[in-house]
Amino acid sequence: MCEICRTSPCDNRCPNAEPRKCFCSNCNLLITDDDEPYVDGQGNEFCSLVCALEYHNIEKE
Ligand SMILES: [Zn+2]
Ligand SMILES: [Zn+2]
Repeated sequence: MCEICRTSPCDNRCPNAEPRKCFCSNCNLLITDDDEPYVDGQGNEFCSLVCALEYHNIEKE
């Protein structure tokens, strides 16, 4: 159990909490703060809008 927030796993606001790790549903790369993550209506997360469009087979003009 965490000594700071007294919960396990840590509360989101706890400084000991592990950063949320998300992987792009299209290219499987780790989404970092440098990216502009995109979430589609089905809860899939992508590293970029381009990946979201690729995943859904939408041609970008
Ligand atoms: Zn904690
Ligand atoms: Zn991607």
